[in-house]
Amino acid sequence: SEDRVFNFAAGPAILPENVLKKAQSELYNYRGSGMSVMEMSHRGKEFLSIIQKAESDLRALLEIPDEYAVLFLQGGATTQFAAIPLNLCTPDDPVDFLVTGSWGDKAFKEAQKYSQPKLIWSGKPEKYTKIPSFEDLEQTPDAKYLHICANETIHGVEFKNYPTPKNATGLLVADMSSNFCSKPVDVSKFGVIYAGAQKNVGPSGVTIVIIRKDLIGNAQKTTPVMLDYKIHAENNSLYNTPPCFGIYMCGLVFEDLLEQGGLKEVEKKNKKKAEILYNAIDESNGFFRCPVEKSVRSLMNVPFTLEKSELEAEFVKEAAKEKMVQLKGHRSVGGMRASIYNAMPLAGVETLVAFMKDFQARHA
Ligand code: PMP
Repeated sequence: SEDRVFNFAAGPAILPENVLKKAQSELYNYRGSGMSVMEMSHRGKEFLSIIQKAESDLRALLEIPDEYAVLFLQGGATTQFAAIPLNLCTPDDPVDFLVTGSWGDKAFKEAQKYSQPKLIWSGKPEKYTKIPSFEDLEQTPDAKYLHICANETIHGVEFKNYPTPKNATGLLVADMSSNFCSKPVDVSKFGVIYAGAQKNVGPSGVTIVIIRKDLIGNAQKTTPVMLDYKIHAENNSLYNTPPCFGIYMCGLVFEDLLEQGGLKEVEKKNKKKAEILYNAIDESNGFFRCPVEKSVRSLMNVPFTLEKSELEAEFVKEAAKEKMVQLKGHRSVGGMRASIYNAMPLAGVETLVAFMKDFQARHA
């Protein structure tokens, strides 16, 4: 609507307008309860129905098999960098990391405290613009799992298919923070999927973990209670006070995604938006550039630079004047980045592309 901007932030990020309006309409007095969701007991019947519906809608969206638990946790995806090795390994166990960007690298470094991670491939020498071919990977036979970051938010590198773990357990673990619920995923290929909510499915403060149930219950002895999946699974994510309002918001987003026709439909829209933007970059005769190899370009985070890098600050400033905000690239890579999550309307991408063409015409 008129008074909203197109928010291209990487996260916290844009949320669907109808979800915000619904939350607004229910904020003061949630469905006749006489209070807001923020004020209710997490053990009361209203909140129990909120969290149960959020879980069942997420299960429907991702077609999550029964043998997987869904946990609504706190601490961000960063906390999972520690929780995963703590729950799946002993301190002496090897685990494999395929690192395609700086989030995967952070996960690899944190895992060093609780396991013996091996870096089986890193995209760092090529500035994180590629994903290797899987056949050539040398995996560790006794590794407890293979970890990937399905979409690198800063570098804009996204797995389009997944490596088969060639280790004793056959487990693949994925950080899906920045492409969660952006497309269908075959959950049965993964031991664990985890994601912070604040990009595609809600506000910050909620972290979703989808884990095969047989992997729960072997946490290292020193694992803090808040990081032990068994505790959270046994208590249906209500061991302690959960991020109630955030879970409610995620639930509204899941409902909205189902109403849109589910993740196949959502993926179609995301592909179209990304195609328009990448085409604008590729057809600019080098005025705009995207460093990422074409086959692994992210549908969610589109990094780009200007050939005349001295114009980048002006680009960002002028775009903001036209209500397109948060286009500055991550401080570690510079340039620009347009995050175009599920909630970014096609009109937002079209407006950006029209602005890019106009900017080029004025500065070529
Ligand atoms: N992984 C990825 C892919 C991310 O994009 C982020 C956040 N930008 C994180 C992990 C860290 O998430 P959090 O801030 O929720 O801890």
